[in-house]
Amino acid sequence: MMIESMAGKSAAMHGETYDASPFVFNEENTAINHFGELLTKSGYNYYGNETFYSGVDGRQMEMQIFFGIVYYQRLRHMIADKFQVRATGPIDPITHQPVKGRKKGGGIRFGEMERDAIIAHGTSFVLQDRLLNCSDRDVAYACRRCGSLLSVLMSSRQGMHLEQRKKGTIAAPVDYSEQQTCRSCGKEDQVFLIQVPRVFRYLTAELAAMNVKIKLGIEHPSKIQGS
Ligand SMILES: [Zn+2]
Repeated sequence: MMIESMAGKSAAMHGETYDASPFVFNEENTAINHFGELLTKSGYNYYGNETFYSGVDGRQMEMQIFFGIVYYQRLRHMIADKFQVRATGPIDPITHQPVKGRKKGGGIRFGEMERDAIIAHGTSFVLQDRLLNCSDRDVAYACRRCGSLLSVLMSSRQGMHLEQRKKGTIAAPVDYSEQQTCRSCGKEDQVFLIQVPRVFRYLTAELAAMNVKIKLGIEHPSKIQGS
């Protein structure tokens, strides 16, 4: 491009074209000298430098600047078409995770490599914030005794509630202040609200459909107030 700057300028001045084949010039016959001679003939600086004036206040610049004509095309990628940002927005109806895609107002995936970087930094709360709180955080009833997420949902009270919601007879969401019963154990003393990723609930239900049980080991149960 440096040589093209000089060749382009001398070509424009002399109304000629120049062959851009490589290895035409050598140490004895350098391109700089060749085009330098041509530029000098048309009244330009030998090295292709030119005097510039400030576009702001018109003052002449102290240093001369290497300047010339080169062939190039505009890159059509503009930040206005590419920038992507969201605080909150549309979520996937099944996983409850943010959707992808700039057009849809989605988020930028916080993937495995990003996860690895956060782990490497030891910033666990950032990891929890990105992957749970700002993603698909959910609360679910779980029975500590049998370690099941699903057995509580199968209790008669929950079942009735879900049935009513399906029919549309009640609009209110699940009342989390109510004490729930585990249907497998038939007791309610070990049923707690825990926070889980929504996809985990989905996975548990999907595996249950294939006759695979997920058993949770809940060590520090604590009730979460509200929904
Ligand atoms: Zn149970």
